[in-house]
Amino acid sequence: MNSKPLLAVLGRSNTGKSSLCRLLAPQAWKSIKVGKNPGSTKGLIEVDNDDYTIVDLPGFGYMMHVSRKFQGETQDKIISFIERRHQHIFLAIEVINIEMFRIAFDKYKESSVPFDKELFEFLLEHEVPLIVLANKIDKLRKQEAETEFTYLKTALDLDQHPGYPPENVMRFSAKTGLGFDVLKERIANYLENFPRQKQ
Ligand code: GDP
Repeated sequence: MNSKPLLAVLGRSNTGKSSLCRLLAPQAWKSIKVGKNPGSTKGLIEVDNDDYTIVDLPGFGYMMHVSRKFQGETQDKIISFIERRHQHIFLAIEVINIEMFRIAFDKYKESSVPFDKELFEFLLEHEVPLIVLANKIDKLRKQEAETEFTYLKTALDLDQHPGYPPENVMRFSAKTGLGFDVLKERIANYLENFPRQKQ
């Protein structure tokens, strides 16, 4: 079993998880496929990045050409990974496609399907430090980007999680690199303070 601290990258399919992993570990980029179709990251990929290991988890939620059974198995895989390894995760990064967040959130609000918000809450329940990236922000015009970013923060009910640092929900673009320097600094800080003290 790998003993390095883990950086877990999670989120729905096609949000930019693999693209983020490539930014974080360019030397290992060849082992990470960036797909055109949602659901192309099917397995759990571990990439060594000097002081820590990046774990690119399979995308959950809607996937094209993928059966409901497979989607259920993918969710089980993610949940069991967090339950088994949460004490080794120094930081989780939940990647959200900000262009699509509102549509998916409104559509699935009433259902019990574990989507973005449930994942956010699940990680916090397991006391995993968490950064949420509002990725693909380059695809929106400035005003729209701010509206959608505010919508995301409201949807996550940050008021219900007073211990959660609101600045950990970040505007991001894996394409243009917006937010990447700040993200790298935060990753370094969480790594330095790991293992974290119990409250
Ligand atoms: P994953 O399924 O979550 O691993 O997503 P990928 O990293 O495979 O990205 C899915 C698609 O979105 C690819 O075509 C990427 O090039 C594109 N993509 C990822 N991040 C960004 C971003 O910040 N901006 C834009 N415009 N495209 C992005």
